[in-house]
Amino acid sequence: MDQLHSLSLTAALALLDKGEVSAVDLTRAVLARIDAVEDRIGAYITLSREHALTQAQEADRGRHAGTAGPLCGLPISIKDVLCTRGLRTTCGSRILESFVPPYDATVVARLRAAGAVLVGKTNMDEFAMGSSNESSAFGPARNPWQTSHICGGSSGGSAAAVAAGECLASIGTDTGGSIRQPASHCGVVGLKPTYGRVSRYGLVAFASSLDQAGPLTKTVEDAALLLGVIAGHDPKDSTSVDRPVPDYRAALTDGLKGLTLGIPKEYFAQGLDPEVEAAVRHGIEVLREAGADTVDISLPHTEYGVAAYYLIAPAEASSNLARFDGVRYGLRDKEAGTLYDMYRRSRSRGFGSEVKRRIIIGTYALSSGYYDAYYRKASQVRALIGEDFRKAFARCDALVSPVSPIPAWKLGEKAADPLSMYLTDVLTIPNNLAGLPGISVPCGFSGAGLPIGLQVQAAHFEEEKLLRIAANLERRLGIVGRRPELANP
Ligand code: GLN
Repeated sequence: MDQLHSLSLTAALALLDKGEVSAVDLTRAVLARIDAVEDRIGAYITLSREHALTQAQEADRGRHAGTAGPLCGLPISIKDVLCTRGLRTTCGSRILESFVPPYDATVVARLRAAGAVLVGKTNMDEFAMGSSNESSAFGPARNPWQTSHICGGSSGGSAAAVAAGECLASIGTDTGGSIRQPASHCGVVGLKPTYGRVSRYGLVAFASSLDQAGPLTKTVEDAALLLGVIAGHDPKDSTSVDRPVPDYRAALTDGLKGLTLGIPKEYFAQGLDPEVEAAVRHGIEVLREAGADTVDISLPHTEYGVAAYYLIAPAEASSNLARFDGVRYGLRDKEAGTLYDMYRRSRSRGFGSEVKRRIIIGTYALSSGYYDAYYRKASQVRALIGEDFRKAFARCDALVSPVSPIPAWKLGEKAADPLSMYLTDVLTIPNNLAGLPGISVPCGFSGAGLPIGLQVQAAHFEEEKLLRIAANLERRLGIVGRRPELANP
């Protein structure tokens, strides 16, 4: 038998069903794995050991009593941007260092109701702003494949935890690529659902028109399983869509006959690392062997995506983060003599430099006299990008491309140059601007042994198609079981 911490959700479920392991066994195995590797990875901000073991005992009792939910007894982690009742939720920020939410995010409530065991809250870029995890106030999570390298961001702790076996699966969020990109860098599956598919209630807002939560998992089937649990309408989030949740796992067995995959030429442009290109092109060949046709597609406004996103997202963030003022949540500077001084000192101390940069850019872009030139213009570009995708999906079923133009880079390499970091989001951002679903599935490795992901995007609410394509690739490539060595010390 595999070591328990390296099991997928579905493999663990099969063992639980047969009575060969208990939820307590699984949870203990994951906690032991955390003890063995976490000092080298830094995937977690907060662990909930005691609570997890209590939940596991309850899960075992539930299973004996025949009341097991679909995730009963499975140890899962959650990005520290989703509120967990009674368990601190920091968003990777000093300003929320001691914030303990009085309620669960809907995603968390659904996981609990399904019987999942919550192991802890994963590391992330501060307020989900970043692509490398280096903006976390708690230090970066590291790439389990090479701990000198970034694990990606902003859901980097989730991706690293899954890759390193420090949980069986995780939930991240994706505003401009933050599920898909770290999944790609850590060699796991990451699914960003259609905007509105999953409730945002209790997800601490970065850019409300873009944020979406989704699974990071070891296999495509696990992503389908988790999505089925967290998706669905929520009266507490008016942007969540009231539409039936399909049985996502049922979509996985089909082949690709009759599907046409679009290859967007702008996603294979200058700046694409040759090893990434080779791995993705190989993946496309494999998908053709599985029966898919391919067609060349153009998404002409792709090159404006980064510029539009880095106005729209900071604009929304500058408004959303105004609530962290030292009065209502988190850190307050107690030395200040006046109210204004208290605001200034609390926010100066509480926020890191990337968050401050975004607040300043966003406030500027929304200020009177500049609004038309920046925010309105960016919104117009956003509409054009949506139009590009609509036209593309008239000609193909899904788009296949790289996720990140380069494999994981060395920690520190881009930290001093925000623009070069922003530019690495070029292939994931248009998807968020258009509200589409997207998945990253492992398709190979660089010469240096770093994972490379392949991105599939489809029209709104076509997650089943993404999963079906990703499952075919996974089956044929046979790299799904490959895990970083991280030999125990
Ligand atoms: N890297 C992007 C940013 O820094 C995306 C982050 C995200 O998806 N949360 O904004």
